[in-house]
Amino acid sequence: VKAGVKFYPADKYLANLGVFKGLPVEIVVSAYLVKDDKVCLINHKDLKHWLPPGGHVKTKTKSKSELCKPIEGINDLVFEELLHEAVLREVREETGWNAEIIASGELYGEDETVCQVPSPRFVQYEQIKEVGRPRHVHINMVYFCKPLDYAVAPSGEEGPIEWFGLHDLDNKKRLFPHTRMNAIAAILQLGSIIPECLKVEEGRVLVPIGGRCAYRCRYCYTKRHDVYFGEPDPKRTAGLVAEVCKQNPGITITAQLGYDNDPFLNPELGLGIITNLIWLPVHIGFSTKAHISKETAKALSILRKVKIENKYNLSGLVTITSLESASKLEPYAPTPDKRFESVKNLSDAGIPILINLRPLLPDDVPLDEIKRIVYLAKEAGAIGIVIGAFWADPEGIVARGLNPQTSKTERKKALWSPHGLKWDRYIEDPEMVNVIKSTCKEVGLKVFDSTSTAVLYLNNLI
Ligand code: SF4
Repeated sequence: VKAGVKFYPADKYLANLGVFKGLPVEIVVSAYLVKDDKVCLINHKDLKHWLPPGGHVKTKTKSKSELCKPIEGINDLVFEELLHEAVLREVREETGWNAEIIASGELYGEDETVCQVPSPRFVQYEQIKEVGRPRHVHINMVYFCKPLDYAVAPSGEEGPIEWFGLHDLDNKKRLFPHTRMNAIAAILQLGSIIPECLKVEEGRVLVPIGGRCAYRCRYCYTKRHDVYFGEPDPKRTAGLVAEVCKQNPGITITAQLGYDNDPFLNPELGLGIITNLIWLPVHIGFSTKAHISKETAKALSILRKVKIENKYNLSGLVTITSLESASKLEPYAPTPDKRFESVKNLSDAGIPILINLRPLLPDDVPLDEIKRIVYLAKEAGAIGIVIGAFWADPEGIVARGLNPQTSKTERKKALWSPHGLKWDRYIEDPEMVNVIKSTCKEVGLKVFDSTSTAVLYLNNLI
């Protein structure tokens, strides 16, 4: 092992879910209540951690005579209140506020026996180990809420409340990582904050897509949800870019899509975002590991024509870091074959495409594989290769490509990722870089050592 970087095994995440099976369950609710870009948390007396308001849904156990068929678990329970009533009650009791649920889903239809209620943002399984009780699972319906009016003094039963802004959450001790992540997501989704990543650097603004990337690459620098931002929403994305343009008059900006999630996880998402950006005075760049069909590529070429008529470009980066090891390193992403197909479809449709051969993963990708990526890139119609080093945190887990010349002070400025402060292992195998450079020379491809220089080149192509 050259770099000593360890990747989580692909099946670990799913295997973890198994621990929740076979245990008794209880239904609980919790709410991230957001007001004035701050989230309300309770300093929980027993758990000695900051937690959102919440608790058990009121239920009673059925008497034997009430049970039509004795089965274990939640089927023995009778609801005394509904889930959305429970969460609003808990919020009122623990914070003093009457609140409303900000649901993410639509309601479609109901009749006398079917009733639809505001949906939680997500469902969280929690393994509970309490002294004196058997191990069990809380099925926690997690809601995002906004306060309506202050109703009563909080009960203070669980502990005192406090309101936290984004930066307070950063430094707060006794905050479970998932609570911190959920609280950040709630502030960003329900508040009015423009994410810090939306700053123009070298003419480029990194535009978050939102959501959680389904590809779960082993080297992903967002796997701890550093840049978690909200639900993917093409209109909101365009609104944020418009705001950036307003704040930076006279600067030609490239809106770079795809650093926290894949804009083409589904074609509607990517096309929707780009369509919403079409009249803004910005170049558009995207990076993707998705399989892009001929139809999607054709739609993109129509959008590119509109951009070009307005003197702006639309170009793409397709990330391919490995061939044989891809199933281990990028277990849920389309195969490299499919991605080369994307390159071909896009370049056939006239979209300038570079291959993102980054981060360079020295332990897992042998030199001959690297060479083959360059040959296949040329064959598929890419015009160049972008390389990038591997940055890891002290545990050698998280990494992100950065220009090697970036100073430590500058890296610390990368506030949009908390890992900016922790990246202290820079790994770049000079042999790999040499092989890429010489093979590119041999086949006539350009090489770029950062996406910003690559994007500048692409934008001069119009
Ligand atoms: S495609 Fe990018 S954002 Fe998605 S898991 Fe892989 S590295 Fe992370």
